Amino acid sequence: ACDANGTGRAIRAAAAVVAEHRAELVELDRAIGDADHGENLNRGFTAVLSALDAGPPETPAAVLKTVATTLISKVGGAAGPLYGTAFLRASGALGSASEVDIDGLVAALRAGLEGVKARGKAEVGDATMIDALAPAVEAAEAAAKQEGADIAAVLTAAADAADRGYESTVDLVPRKGRASYLGERAVGHADPGARSTALLLRAFAEAAR
Ligand code: ADP
Ligand code: MG
Ligand code: MG
Repeated sequence: ACDANGTGRAIRAAAAVVAEHRAELVELDRAIGDADHGENLNRGFTAVLSALDAGPPETPAAVLKTVATTLISKVGGAAGPLYGTAFLRASGALGSASEVDIDGLVAALRAGLEGVKARGKAEVGDATMIDALAPAVEAAEAAAKQEGADIAAVLTAAADAADRGYESTVDLVPRKGRASYLGERAVGHADPGARSTALLLRAFAEAAR
């Protein structure tokens, strides 16, 4: 299980990975968007670190709520509100529990996915972060049912599936967001939001090990 401190460590690990991959996310977005995805997320997660430092939240849900409200207020563009909604819904799924167990983790991931879908109206195949997040949630649900599953194994399965989902976006015609303006011309380019989703999940998996 994972308490508020563990959740905070996972979020800090995610912030570090976003900072490390800022330029890569900018370049992916330059090809099919407006070259700001890395900046947007890095600005958001830098603010998240400040918010966590200012007042360490007492439950895992409170940590995720701080992430959500900070991303929503600091990140412009499409991804801020979408990730903000994901973390807000995930927070809601955890309730007031002092620790996240496997069932809580899977419920939080599922709730995050449903939040992004409700907000952005994208489905699998539209070349967005959904192409990484949806298979990740399915893989997490399957991994959770395995004998001896733990949080690290569930998150690793999710991150592996997200990597494959991200790679699948190369061949897709974008149907949502800025990249959709390019239509067929975007084929051959991977989606930046799918990449950042895969990176976040990998950071969470590594933090849980
Ligand atoms: P903007 O496009 O406003 O500059 P970002 O560059 O930060 O915002 O984020 C772009 C990413 O947001 C895309 O790569 C895609 O993954 C994601 N995205 C855009 N629109 C949607 C949507 N409707 N549903 C899900 N994800 C979306
Ligand atoms: Mg952009
Ligand atoms: Mg933008």
